[in-house]
Amino acid sequence: MKIMLLGAPGAGKGTVAKLLTAFDGSVQISTGDILRAAVKAGTALGKEAQGFMDRGELVPDSLIMGIMEQRLQEPDCANGFLLDGFPRTIPQAEELKTLMARLGIKMDFVVSIEVPREVILDRLTTRRTCSNSACQEIYNVKSNPPAEGGKCKKCGSPTIQRADETEEAISKRLDVYNEKTAPLIGFYEKEGMLKKVVGTSSDVVVNAIKAALGK
Ligand code: AMP
Repeated sequence: MKIMLLGAPGAGKGTVAKLLTAFDGSVQISTGDILRAAVKAGTALGKEAQGFMDRGELVPDSLIMGIMEQRLQEPDCANGFLLDGFPRTIPQAEELKTLMARLGIKMDFVVSIEVPREVILDRLTTRRTCSNSACQEIYNVKSNPPAEGGKCKKCGSPTIQRADETEEAISKRLDVYNEKTAPLIGFYEKEGMLKKVVGTSSDVVVNAIKAALGK
């Protein structure tokens, strides 16, 4: 499948993408994960991105488009992919359209995952992420806690609260989402590519996507 997941931070894009990759071997492409790995590895990209990320702001479009142009041409994308957290602005969506046409890639559709703001705020402040960049398993201290001592159940590394998951950064990220990313819903509606899924449970969202794909 070739699908794009739209939704506010904490809407469940990452969880839904992971569940869908297990289903048909499509790869999850999360620009947030790529950037966090670059920050951790201390690369030039990471150094440039870190300040924006810690403040809950978007990284400049030019950096993101460079990453995605390369990533979409890697061989594992041939089986399909789930775009998680990209595009985030109208200029990124416009450039992606041009890039896809150039690479001869046709998306199945765009899914907008719609979740109430209170649910999102609660989810993000209670979220913990595995600090191992090769794992990045997501936990929730209330509904899906990590193992004893806050260790990841999959790889045993410590789980952490991301720097951009403090209340201040979250509120900034939601404002940025409303201002810069929410207009993409109208953009893809006009393109005739949008499917809205209202759901706080990832299983409901995954089933709706499978049904839309006819699977
Ligand atoms: P995420 O894990 O998708 O919430 O992304 C974490 C942070 O990475 C965001 O708050 C942005 O600073 C940055 N980021 C991720 N994807 C993008 C993108 N497509 N455009 C700009 N910044 C991004």
